[in-house]
Amino acid sequence: MADTDSGSATRLTNTHTPTFGLASGPVTEVHAFWLAGMSCDGCSIAAVGAEHPTVEQLVSGSIPGLPKVVLHHPVLDVEAGEAFIAPYRLAREGKLGAPYVVIYEGSVADERIAAHYGGYWSAMGANIGADGSHQPIPTAIWLKDLAPGAAAMIAIGTCATWGGVPAAAGNVTGSMGVMDFLGKDYLSTLGLPVINIPGCSPVGDNFTETVAAVLMFLAGVGPLPAFDELGRPAWMFKDTVHRGCVRAGSYEEGVFAQNYGDTECLVELGCWGPVVQCNMVSRGAIGHAGGCMNTGGICIGCTMPGFPDAFAPFYKAPPGKTLSGNTSRAVGSFIRPLRRISQRKGNLSPRWARTGFVPSGWGHVEMPGPVMRAAHYFYKKLQYSGQFTPASARQQSLQADGHKFIGEVKRHIEQQDGLKP
Ligand code: SF4
Repeated sequence: MADTDSGSATRLTNTHTPTFGLASGPVTEVHAFWLAGMSCDGCSIAAVGAEHPTVEQLVSGSIPGLPKVVLHHPVLDVEAGEAFIAPYRLAREGKLGAPYVVIYEGSVADERIAAHYGGYWSAMGANIGADGSHQPIPTAIWLKDLAPGAAAMIAIGTCATWGGVPAAAGNVTGSMGVMDFLGKDYLSTLGLPVINIPGCSPVGDNFTETVAAVLMFLAGVGPLPAFDELGRPAWMFKDTVHRGCVRAGSYEEGVFAQNYGDTECLVELGCWGPVVQCNMVSRGAIGHAGGCMNTGGICIGCTMPGFPDAFAPFYKAPPGKTLSGNTSRAVGSFIRPLRRISQRKGNLSPRWARTGFVPSGWGHVEMPGPVMRAAHYFYKKLQYSGQFTPASARQQSLQADGHKFIGEVKRHIEQQDGLKP
């Protein structure tokens, strides 16, 4: 249907999208309550940098089929003070009158520890006492209160998913991830456990894409996205970052960087990519650009539940690289020269191979010597075994057959058109 209110005859909005059988009617608007625990706000920065889709597209309801997101964010909201907190209170009391999701950034600290000393770890808004005093409300309390009524609970970033840096050994905060805080039996009103989008910071697109997929499910226009056993979007986190790495070819050939700035595989400088589930290098950090190994940085395992302790000390090669790296080195030392032989051949045009000369003004190109030519000969035999080689008698005969056939068809058409007797 056309959006006549806006004066546009063609623009589609979610309010005009056909809806699909939710008993309570179409979901056209979903509130998103953002809570920040023990966080550096990096996840917020990552989210607002996302491009597919953008936060702006989500909050403007400009993606057909998706409910419009009414975002309540402590930094991005235009409201402040009590006007900002009021919708949180309404949701907590079950008076919001619209479905909502909760997005938690940062880890959940054990507020009992801080309360024991009369303080708090992270809070938002305040309860006002009878004497007018303000008692900050820990975001852990908001999380506990809002969780039962949430249509979906999304943990963004490694601190919120698994605990992350604030939960590292030696911390004094008792920090944990949202899943640990809410417990194994937690289910949202839609029956979903906690959805986890790890990363420090996460790829922004991983977050907005997951939100969009969940909203489609919420609106009844899409299936429940595939999540793995830890609640991660399976299509983003099932593979290791190593598999999509731009340097994986040099790992396979056993060539390793020895210094930062080298272009080869970084495993000997401490890269944990072969075991870390992440799509950073294939997706890029932001706008499909950047991403750890793309820009020369090692993988320190920041998407993994064991991070950071399981991957420390950073910048020290993982013990496993001794076996796998040396195996690659041994295989690569044999494979690499063979590939160079094929490469030499692939770098010659048929004319250059025939004339024995490359007319390049950029430099002298040495032609293959007798040994290399012999290697090419046998390689070609293998390459074309069971087939015909270009310019062979067999190919020329097939070509002649083809030309003959086309000539006959052409004659037939001309006869039909009366052009030829
Ligand atoms: Fe794998 Fe890391 Fe090497 Fe990339 S840089 S190929 S992720 S070990």
